[in-house]
Amino acid sequence: MADSTTKCLIIGSGPAGYTAAIYASRANLSPILIEGLQPGGQLTTTTEVENFPGYPEGITGPLLMEDLRKQATRFGADIRAGIVTAADFSERPFKVTTDDGTVITAETVIISTGASAKYLGISDEQKYAGMGVSACATCDGFFYRGRTVAVVGGGDTACEEALYLSGLAKKVYLIVRKDYLRASKVMQQRVLQKENITVLFNCNTLGLFGDEFVEGAKIVENKGTDKEQIFDIAIDGFFLAIGHKPNTDIFAGQIDLDETGYIITKGSSTATNIPGVFGAGDVADPVYRQAVSAAGMGCRAALDAEKFIMENA
Ligand code: NDP
Repeated sequence: MADSTTKCLIIGSGPAGYTAAIYASRANLSPILIEGLQPGGQLTTTTEVENFPGYPEGITGPLLMEDLRKQATRFGADIRAGIVTAADFSERPFKVTTDDGTVITAETVIISTGASAKYLGISDEQKYAGMGVSACATCDGFFYRGRTVAVVGGGDTACEEALYLSGLAKKVYLIVRKDYLRASKVMQQRVLQKENITVLFNCNTLGLFGDEFVEGAKIVENKGTDKEQIFDIAIDGFFLAIGHKPNTDIFAGQIDLDETGYIITKGSSTATNIPGVFGAGDVADPVYRQAVSAAGMGCRAALDAEKFIMENA
């Protein structure tokens, strides 16, 4: 694609990116939005979203993202498939390169690249990638109909994934490293009441085994105590749901990040350390991490960009 120029470049297509695009378009900033590796972001891998205001009956994640995309397009946002491979924030206008070699010159940039699923870091996760190991139940759960799976994690994501899988699989183990679930009370109740979910508290995964595909996991219970025991569970699928890592690698060294890689924004604004570059959504929010709070932050980033352009015209 030919090189382009814009008043506002938005990187990422989750609730923050699309909401920023809606606001920036309506403010006549003619934004370009680069969708990234996972168009629509993390919500496209979610089932029912029950807590996004305006949908009293709930809505599926993919449909919600489709609606947000349509709304941004309606006001003229230029939404493009592609991945940002490099960003140069050393001078204004900024220069951002995408994977097809296009260079976009932008007066302001909104980074809303979200976060990606974390893995445990055991070598078997790579060995069995696509052969029983997954970080997305809604993407891959279908393959495990009538089978036995394990989900790792004790937060809302893990509970949501376990519940989703319990509707497909014969049996679901939830492997939780503490003696309690961190998830919200309502999710905990749903998981604990589900007959075909067994919660393995105080358990960690030592490894996976199987000829070609995953056939089981080696588990340690009460590690480091006198009650420690190691046992195997027979499973066909192993799903990670232990949190996320912000997608900021390509901005490191230019944008100030906290110790876990989240973009640091100034005070109550979305401003980063570089005037004209803003952060919005999960990439800049280690605390709330909700679709609606990401959307709100996308709105604030677009308003901050608009104000920046007015003051620096
Ligand atoms: P969380 O950070 O809330 O939970 C991560 C879970 O994984 C914790 O139980 C943690 O254990 C466990 N964990 C982390 N590292 C390891 C490890 N190395 N080995 C074993 N277990 C590990 O992440 P979530 O993705 O669940 O949720 C993120 C945010 O999104 C939360 O605010 C959540 O409320 C929200 N959310 C909301 C949903 C909804 O409202 N529908 C759905 C999904 C998420 P420990 O507790 O010991 O730290």
